[in-house]
Amino acid sequence: MIFLPSCTDIELTNTLTVVQALAQIKASLQPLAGFEKIALRSSLGRILAEDIISPSNVPAYRNAAMDGYALRGSDLPHDGFQTWQVVGTALAGQPFLGTVGEGQGVRIMTGAMMPAGTDIVVMQEHVAVAGETIRIGSHEKPGQHVREAGEDLALGQVVLTAGKLLLPPELGLLASLGFAEIRVKRRLRVAFFSTGDELCAIGNVPQLGQLYDSNRYTLYGMLTRLGVEVMDLGTVPDQPEALRQTLAAAAANAEVIITSGGVSVGEADFIKETLQTLGKIHFWKIAMRPGRPLAYGKINETVFFGLPGNPVAVMITFYQLVQPILLFLMGSSNHELAKIWKVVCGSRLKKRVGRREFQRGILTSTPAGEWVVHSTGPQGSGILRSMSEGNCFIILAEECERVEIGDWVEVQPFAEFM
Ligand code: AMP
Ligand code: MG
Repeated sequence: MIFLPSCTDIELTNTLTVVQALAQIKASLQPLAGFEKIALRSSLGRILAEDIISPSNVPAYRNAAMDGYALRGSDLPHDGFQTWQVVGTALAGQPFLGTVGEGQGVRIMTGAMMPAGTDIVVMQEHVAVAGETIRIGSHEKPGQHVREAGEDLALGQVVLTAGKLLLPPELGLLASLGFAEIRVKRRLRVAFFSTGDELCAIGNVPQLGQLYDSNRYTLYGMLTRLGVEVMDLGTVPDQPEALRQTLAAAAANAEVIITSGGVSVGEADFIKETLQTLGKIHFWKIAMRPGRPLAYGKINETVFFGLPGNPVAVMITFYQLVQPILLFLMGSSNHELAKIWKVVCGSRLKKRVGRREFQRGILTSTPAGEWVVHSTGPQGSGILRSMSEGNCFIILAEECERVEIGDWVEVQPFAEFM
């Protein structure tokens, strides 16, 4: 008796959920070793390679948070008014170095170092000035309008930990500690190319039956935004020898290779063969839509991702699977999938049971300040316009069949990861 595998058997052997695929891939990889020391400004968008321990207090000294008069809080009247003698002036960058005795005060400006012995600033609007004396009432509070030394960053405190993505606040924090140079993770080298006999590079005239290669431009954009070093290897025809040569060159020069096209079921088998002669490659069906087929593996030490060819599928498989892995390889401590919010759906949505769908939506807020998401319209995996018009994914679970207006749905705003 001969047992032929049923369709479901074939489906099950290499079908994975997005979460399972991510876990399998991460388990087979190690984050990049290696760092470089670069100027603080050049570190914007890079991943910190060391823990930063504060070498000083910020602010370094107790200073005034307001323009006014610095006094000894213990001298304040309990009721009525009291008169003080003004013995000097303290400006930002020009401290008052004399001593302040009982019943004495110093004219002080915001940011100026608090003179020795003073611990309170009375704002100038609360002070009646007459020549060299001032009068102050009883409504002032001990310790007011003073910034304590180390209240932002304390000496010895862990300020940032390795793996942190350096954004504008981190540049400012590091500058406030005096760091002129910083150790960051080395850039990941990523090569990419498109496959397909039907592809025409921009600048050429498409022949009958050809279309412009747009995937290389979305890939270029997505990779560049991540801060990796990109190598665009062009458009490669569906020919085993051309493919083999490009892959071998890519593997010799890059740590990651990303291709689009040629991984669908029933597609020219030589692509599979070519890949498998070069390395260890798995062909998976991911239970997602768009973007079911995915090839993943290694060519020597180089990580390989073969994405599907459809333009929306390229973007969705990249953001859901490839980007978290690249962030992991880059040494980022934040390499989880983008966060998910629950909002009310303003459109009727249909889907088939079985796969997790990443529909494109437009998230807006109502006049009452509530979030609502609408569909961008047709969801074909070739409708790239949906990614541009949309501002979020609407994520519909495997078992979901339809969504009615007013139902809650899960969304992932593009701004979180794009
Ligand atoms: P494939 O996965 O190779 O079967 O490609 C699926 C479909 O995606 C093709 O029929 C093309 O219409 C489209 N496609 C493939 N590669 C590209 C590309 N680089 N740019 C734009 N569309 C593409
Ligand atoms: Mg193709």
